[in-house]
Amino acid sequence: MATHETSVLIVGAGPIGLAAAILLDQQGVSTLVVDRKPDFDDHPRARLMDSCTLELFRQFGIADAVEATGIGPDWTEVITCAESIAGKQIARIPSPEFHSVPRPITPQVPVMTCQDLLEPILYERAKASDHVEVQLSREIIELDQDESGCRARIRNVDTGEEEEILASYVIGADGVKSFVRKAIGAVLEGEARDMYFRDVLFHADLSPWVDDLDRKGALLFVAHPMGAGTFQPLDGKQRYRIQIGGLDPDADISDEWCRKWLWSAIGAGDEFPIEIFSKTIWQVGARASNHFSKGRIFLAGDAAQVFTPTGGMGMNCAFAGVRNLAWKLAYVVRGVAPASILETYESEWKPQSLRRTKAALENTDYIIGVFSAYVGGGDLYKALNDVKQYTHYEGTIFGYEIASDLCQKDPADPPQVEDEGQDYVPIVRSGRRAPHLWLDSNEERSILDVYGTDYVLVLGEGADDAAWTDAASKIQGRGFPLAIERFEASRLEGTPYEGEEATLVRPDLIVAGHVPRGESVRPVEFLESVLPLAS
Ligand SMILES: Cc1cc2nc3c(=O)[nH]c(=O)nc-3n(C[C@H](O)[C@H](O)[C@H](O)COP(=O)(O)OP(=O)(O)OC[C@H]3O[C@@H](n4cnc5c(N)ncnc54)[C@H](O)[C@@H]3O)c2cc1C
Repeated sequence: MATHETSVLIVGAGPIGLAAAILLDQQGVSTLVVDRKPDFDDHPRARLMDSCTLELFRQFGIADAVEATGIGPDWTEVITCAESIAGKQIARIPSPEFHSVPRPITPQVPVMTCQDLLEPILYERAKASDHVEVQLSREIIELDQDESGCRARIRNVDTGEEEEILASYVIGADGVKSFVRKAIGAVLEGEARDMYFRDVLFHADLSPWVDDLDRKGALLFVAHPMGAGTFQPLDGKQRYRIQIGGLDPDADISDEWCRKWLWSAIGAGDEFPIEIFSKTIWQVGARASNHFSKGRIFLAGDAAQVFTPTGGMGMNCAFAGVRNLAWKLAYVVRGVAPASILETYESEWKPQSLRRTKAALENTDYIIGVFSAYVGGGDLYKALNDVKQYTHYEGTIFGYEIASDLCQKDPADPPQVEDEGQDYVPIVRSGRRAPHLWLDSNEERSILDVYGTDYVLVLGEGADDAAWTDAASKIQGRGFPLAIERFEASRLEGTPYEGEEATLVRPDLIVAGHVPRGESVRPVEFLESVLPLAS
């Protein structure tokens, strides 16, 4: 049996496995990505790529390419609830987290696209990387580890040939039924409801009913005599998906049955042309692996947590999670940080995963609540207020706070907000995402563009440049990747960075620590206390 060696073996070339490979490549770490599929799935799952995900794609240099695949702001401004596509509208709910328009808090707009359009872009980007090798039609069939490394057995699904892979670390990004999760003895915990949705991909010309701006929506929920479901525009033209709820998971839904269902849901006549392409099924729930890692093996993406799609958060959360993991793994592989930092992946990220899976599950109930209130004569105003979190979660994705030894404890109280899920206050605060600001008047270069690989020390007004530079070069002399950025005072004026003498940002954009102006610290002591130095 042939043997292949790599620094990090990534199991799964889905979006999360590929993103992990690109992030590690940007840190100069070699990866081998294996996936048992021969090609990409053309029945898309995810559609919404949130602004934080687009910020990651910006770092990969693929944000424009992904944005070009989106259906654009006309479709994404609201979600609608109606009796049918042609029938009476019950509600139009603003969807700021889906709306593809610029916001001052981020350099990127969210994009409503399709996973089958995204995956080839990520794949090509990964393949173009210097340190990434991707092998399709390769299935992992055995995995073990000891103190010195991991050993995997991989089978070529076409030829049956087997190969041994020796890797320092393994990332299991192999989806909901993760082999790697089982291999480390972990299990999914949480709620899995006896509630399934049928996902049907079809082509139809709905333009007579959705051409007007006031009939468009990122999601078009309908409740009609044959049941309830969600229409989802996939290309803004004739490609749609319908998600049909309330069916027995074993029910046989023939193309003919789907057409009848769709005629009723659209409110079109029985001759209306509809071409059905493919069908899948998914279950409602909110689950996470009891462990996100064991020893040298880590879980990411759907292998670590399983979302209900309501809210479009699963893959976005997973991208943010793998961003948390990848730099830590890279720093340990490169020998610039101690292996103990790897423990913070689970302690920092699992609480965020749990919070988001829970919110997504609540969204399912809230949207059902809108129709129940409408049909049953309940409190529609309350139901519409509750459902807001489905489409409005700036606080959750921009304003979350991480706590671990890798972030200084912030002495100030967090900003007070009315709703932690919905409201985001851009501030410099330990454990939070570093705020965005434009560095040029053309709004082309964001401060986020200077973060991503090294720790970055941003110096502001009042900083003793010589003392900080001297301290930084001592740290750099120990081989630690630390960069210094100094911006003109006028550039930071009126921004969250204004009152800061120094802000230290991790490669995943999280503020590790900061020194407000006027606070007396010794730069070397500050840096040594916050940075995960190898020795
Ligand atoms: C209907 C639906 C709608 C969704 N909408 C959204 C949305 O709008 N926004 C959002 O953020 N998320 C959404 N999601 C979630 C999103 O699709 C997933 O979170 C995302 O695909 C997870 O990516 P992944 O790379 O972790 O796993 P996957 O995409 O499942 O990839 C795992 C890969 O591992 C491979 N693999 C599995 N086992 C093995 C093995 N033994 N050996 C080798 N390879 C293996 C598989 O072939 C696969 O390619 C949605 C999900 C569904 C079902």
